[in-house]
Amino acid sequence: MSEVLSRREFLASTAVGLAATTALEIPHPMRPPRPLPPQSRWAAKPVVVSSANGLRAVQKAFDMLMQGADTLDAAIEGVKIQELDPNDDSVGYGGLPNADGVVQLDASCMHGPTKRAGAVGALEGIKTPSEVAKLVLKYTNHIFLVGEGAKRFALQYCFKEEDLLTEHAREVWLHWRANLNPDDDYLDVPEAEHMAVRPTGTINCDCVTPAGDVSSVTTTSGLAFKVPGRVGDSPIVGAGQYTDNDIGAAGSTGRGESNIKVCGGFLTVEHMRRGMKPADACLETLKRVVKLSEARLLDERGRPRFDLKFYAVNKRGEFGAASLFPGRFAVHDGTEAKLMDAAYLYERPAASR
Ligand code: ASP
Repeated sequence: MSEVLSRREFLASTAVGLAATTALEIPHPMRPPRPLPPQSRWAAKPVVVSSANGLRAVQKAFDMLMQGADTLDAAIEGVKIQELDPNDDSVGYGGLPNADGVVQLDASCMHGPTKRAGAVGALEGIKTPSEVAKLVLKYTNHIFLVGEGAKRFALQYCFKEEDLLTEHAREVWLHWRANLNPDDDYLDVPEAEHMAVRPTGTINCDCVTPAGDVSSVTTTSGLAFKVPGRVGDSPIVGAGQYTDNDIGAAGSTGRGESNIKVCGGFLTVEHMRRGMKPADACLETLKRVVKLSEARLLDERGRPRFDLKFYAVNKRGEFGAASLFPGRFAVHDGTEAKLMDAAYLYERPAASR
């Protein structure tokens, strides 16, 4: 392949670079955006995958990759859209609280090019834990900060402390509490207003740049009404997400406890290292999850009573996702931001208990 840029290619890439440095305002960037080489010299097909709530995230992150942004900067700016959205009650501001009515957030991320990782757990009062996880990654000799220390760290970097419990989230929590025990002193909420299921959710996002640089981030308010102090899989490097810049990245949403036991983010990347395509790697990890599930979590036919999903990209820009039951994921692979069907293991979930 020619190393010499045509005049047209040079002008085009410079224009993109200039636009990028002026248009992109990334707090604490891993590196400033830089001009993309001409397409003929791309090492990978750039791609962004995310959980199904990440349609706007994949659009934002992909746009940033096309402006020459760093892989992790793009992923974080993508998921921040959900963190800041009060209507997504599974992530960041507006997330459903723990059993005490307190919103506690978890996030972790990995940056392929620098081989770094960062995470925060049980963080209160800060809307964008993914960004705080990136700062742990960028500015400290540590990987994982939790609770009060994580909050103090964020405040030192000028994050604002805010009330994260929206009116909607408070109401859902009060309903949950009232219906918890028919014999307590809170009057039960009428049947018609009951929550059908205990809501779950999270956002994972994985990015591959045209240079083949890979990153991943997962951020969540965790299991709704969790025991205070509980952290799930999302902030655990190797479970909620994992990146190896030589191979690819993977992340997860769904029942965190089931993922932690198989180190699912790491395991999925290891399956890709052995040559599996991303969707197959995700399916293989889910089979391990089922194998390691306690009997109380399976029905009489061995089907899980919970859901779990994995999302993966490899260094070439191939991507895929798999779920225990039919489900979707978001992707931008250069055409448009869209939802696609994930591969799956079982047609229908067993009734949950
Ligand atoms: N994985 C998250 C957790 O266990 C929850 C979810 O994705 O629904 O905290």
